[in-house]
Amino acid sequence: MAGTKVRLHVDQPLGAGQAVAVAEGQANYLFQVMRLGPGDRVALFNGRDGEWLAEVAEAGKRRGILVCQALSRPQGAPPDLWLLFAPVKKERTNFIVEKAVELGVARILPVSTRRMNAERIRADKQVLHAVEAAEQCGATWVPGVEELQPLDRLLDGWATAGGPVRRIFWADEARAEAGGDTGWAAGRAGEPAAILIGPEGGFAPEERARLQALPAVTPVSLGPRILRAETAVLAALVLWQSRFGDWR
Ligand code: SAM
Repeated sequence: MAGTKVRLHVDQPLGAGQAVAVAEGQANYLFQVMRLGPGDRVALFNGRDGEWLAEVAEAGKRRGILVCQALSRPQGAPPDLWLLFAPVKKERTNFIVEKAVELGVARILPVSTRRMNAERIRADKQVLHAVEAAEQCGATWVPGVEELQPLDRLLDGWATAGGPVRRIFWADEARAEAGGDTGWAAGRAGEPAAILIGPEGGFAPEERARLQALPAVTPVSLGPRILRAETAVLAALVLWQSRFGDWR
């Protein structure tokens, strides 16, 4: 298997000569699924110390030891972009989290809204999807995934959170229907930002009124057609990244 680039997120510190113990799930993946053995190499990252090339020193059925050899990539960071979205059905929510990591966000905040069409969301499971996506896409970080919280409560604290107020680009389907200015020109590269995507049923009138009244909120269009929530997430992230983020 030498030459295969397997990337693994671990919690332990990484550094030259550092031994990293892997336990059951990861050992099974490395040594049974990927069939790695002593002498084979994997890439490790922990979100703090960059990516390290590590060699398999011990490969057991249930555990193993990897030893860091050399830094292969310095620690990076995503643009300061948060994704706020109302969860949809399970598979589609998983898709949203995975794609948000690939497209580049710093933080993922599921929000509950009046017309939300999902029971609940397991943040711990979503963190696993985020880790897998980071392993696959080459990121040296894993964005935080928060517990579900009411949109109203998040907005209550928004302007008073300290530091520069983070602009919320609110994907507003009414703006799309109106045509004309898409709203995106209000943004600036390098400024902290968030994208807000509503539920399948759209935002309720009282939610719309509140968003319209908040100075931090900029309504934006995602084109002339109404997109499914998960498509809207992808479209908004691509638009933001290509205008203001690390794709420029
Ligand atoms: N039921 C809503 C309606 O018919 O108006 C559609 C909701 S849409 C499936 C889910 C979310 O995606 C919306 O709340 C909005 O945030 C976003 N969205 C979808 N298409 C959009 C567009 N063309 N422009 C801006 N936002 C859009």
